[in-house]
Amino acid sequence: MLTPQEELANLEEQGLLRSLQKISSPSPPTVTIDGRELINFSSNDYLGLAQHPALIEAATKAIQDYGTGATASRLVCGSLDLFHQLEERIASGKKTEAALTFANGYATAVGTIPALVGKNDTIILDKLSHACLIDAARLSGSTLRIFPHNDLNKLEKLLSSSKGRTLVVTESVFSMDGDLCPLADIVFLKEKHGALLLLDEAHAVGVLGSNGQGLADELGLQNQVDFQMGTLGKALGSAGGYLASSRDWIDLVINKARSFIYSTAPPPAQAAASLAAFKILASREGADRRQLLLSHCKRFDASTPIIPRIIGGNDEAVAASKRLRGKGFLVPAIRYPTVARGTARLRITLSASHTDLQISDLLKAL
Ligand SMILES: *Cc1c(COP(=O)(O)O)cnc(C)c1O
Repeated sequence: MLTPQEELANLEEQGLLRSLQKISSPSPPTVTIDGRELINFSSNDYLGLAQHPALIEAATKAIQDYGTGATASRLVCGSLDLFHQLEERIASGKKTEAALTFANGYATAVGTIPALVGKNDTIILDKLSHACLIDAARLSGSTLRIFPHNDLNKLEKLLSSSKGRTLVVTESVFSMDGDLCPLADIVFLKEKHGALLLLDEAHAVGVLGSNGQGLADELGLQNQVDFQMGTLGKALGSAGGYLASSRDWIDLVINKARSFIYSTAPPPAQAAASLAAFKILASREGADRRQLLLSHCKRFDASTPIIPRIIGGNDEAVAASKRLRGKGFLVPAIRYPTVARGTARLRITLSASHTDLQISDLLKAL
């Protein structure tokens, strides 16, 4: 049996050792690490809302009104009216009957998916799906089928041989590649085969669609996506996760999702900040921020703010990230198991808080 030191040494040898870096005084788009200010091209704060005065004010007021903790799980006595307001807001944006919030996106996935499908059912998952979707699928005990990234032929094959209730799971904007799923085609196929579809909009909300509602909204497909899932911790600048669906499905999830039932409700300030963020999203200011973000994306010939630069080797990717840091940019190296072996990469994320000049400087440095 290996000791923890030996395991760590193995990781180091493969160029896969990770460690935490202490961040002081984040003030988007810069962070300070080891006393050095860096332009941050690694956060998911796409609209620059995490330090927005309106969110800070809403969170502060919620702390004053409700205190710092929800004191119990939602089903016991933690179901504060703020959570219900937030859920109504999400449902109306997603054009669904109901929505449910969780402590984060990860908890949303691992709570929801095993509540929807079980042992005699089938989950069909895009190969590049986020770790929380894969973990959730495994936890459900369903038969797990994987299709190559965005491969509609293989998806259809899997759909035609699936057993039990069938759930197709994919993302609108893929988190490590920044590309989109062919949502209209996937919707067509899942309807043809009578399957359900869960769409993780984590990186699309705030970026795509009217008022930043995401890809399903942009394509007018919200009514055909059975489960719209996402996080409040990325473009919305707060923390939390949500599921939007029909009233019956949401009621079932409330009754079955273990990460929801057996966990203290999130701090009320989190919900208050998210509500303030949705308000901004629907305002002129939100539209302006989204426009600015998309104009930054265009400078990289990209349609989303996630821009991978594939390097290949782990050590090479880490070295490239270090060189950029030497020039004053924080751009992380992403390695296995987050991405496939041999596809280590730099992952640049853009934000409306970046200036045109900062974008030009990064392009030069790259
Ligand atoms: C970040 C992310 C999540 C998890 O959301 P958290 O709120 O950070 O837990 C889920 N799915 C995708 C695609 C993500 O990128």
